[in-house]
Amino acid sequence: MKITFPNMGSAIYAFKALLEPLGADVVFPPPVTKETIDLGVKYSPEFVCFPFKVNVGDFIRSIESGVTNLITATDFGPCRFGFYHAIQERILRDLGYDFRMIALPQGDLLEFKWIKTLDEVCEYTGLKKLSAAWKGVRLFLIKAKLIEDIENAEGKYRCREVNRGDTDRIKRELLEKLDATKRLKDLRNFRNVIHEEFQKMDMDMSFEPLKVFLTGEIHVTLEPYVNRDLKKKLGKLGCEVTQTLSLHDWIMHKFHVNFHRKEMAHLARPHMPLDIGGEAVWVLGEYIWAATHGYDGFFHLYPFTCMPEITARGIITNKLLKEYDLPPLFVSLDENLAEAGLITRLEAMVDLMHGKRKKKNEYKQKLNAFMDSEKQDYLANQQQHK
Ligand code: SF4
Repeated sequence: MKITFPNMGSAIYAFKALLEPLGADVVFPPPVTKETIDLGVKYSPEFVCFPFKVNVGDFIRSIESGVTNLITATDFGPCRFGFYHAIQERILRDLGYDFRMIALPQGDLLEFKWIKTLDEVCEYTGLKKLSAAWKGVRLFLIKAKLIEDIENAEGKYRCREVNRGDTDRIKRELLEKLDATKRLKDLRNFRNVIHEEFQKMDMDMSFEPLKVFLTGEIHVTLEPYVNRDLKKKLGKLGCEVTQTLSLHDWIMHKFHVNFHRKEMAHLARPHMPLDIGGEAVWVLGEYIWAATHGYDGFFHLYPFTCMPEITARGIITNKLLKEYDLPPLFVSLDENLAEAGLITRLEAMVDLMHGKRKKKNEYKQKLNAFMDSEKQDYLANQQQHK
């Protein structure tokens, strides 16, 4: 059975690892391009959120390339994601496509409804089916974690690279290597491989980058075509990027074992006491966390018309910014975003962060000088009174 799924950055390698051991012939969706977006925009409701449109474009291009089994994650809200799969299926049927839509329930992974989906996709029977599913799940979790490690290293090292493009090349080679590794035992050492490959790169370790935190709605934050490769742009502008959001991070949350997210939700609770959808509640926690951990700036990506993320944005601008004073940049993404305008905004934000850091350093120097002179006076007084 030829099967595919919608794009979401490097996460596609993890989805492939989940389905391949089940005997499915996994085909990557065609990469997101202008054509994907044009198709999605043409056939989706005008005011639906942007990831919905990109998914529709992905599905149409996959079906037209001959892959008619589409697997997609489903949820039970609380935002519009809850009805993505049903409406997308209806749109594609109305367009006359003949395909099979397979739902992968991810509302609460501890309900194990996803096992039924794996059972449906699996080509094997009996004990072989069980061992194939077990292998798929383990490969999926391990590869999702390794993809997160590769992307963390990318965010950390790109701003220090001496030869432009080294980080991209290493990332691409590591992802290809990861994709080609099919046995669990061959993945045991992969973390060290990631570390070693990045350490081989020529880096300027004396460079002091700006520290920025990048987060937002999961699809637009993970899919580089949709966010105009914002992480890369920030790296080139001299920013070390921290991004805790990843497929692995999301899956751990859905298995109720993501303690990082629990901490973020705890920080956000006075401002947003419940999950309203998207990443809103964790975005607030991350803003507070970044502001209290020496970050220079905060970048929040969200799809145009995304209700939960717009709510988070409102709380940051109207409340948290006054209290924590960490400069935020909000980027609303849709098919009309002009790249030149985005670059200008990023450059202005980088200037602002440099200015703030300079002021902070001057203040620190003055404070240290004042403390030193106070100390000298105190010691001199002590001497006189002896
Ligand atoms: S989080 Fe935002 S973009 Fe994603 S489905 Fe919900 S409303 Fe739409």
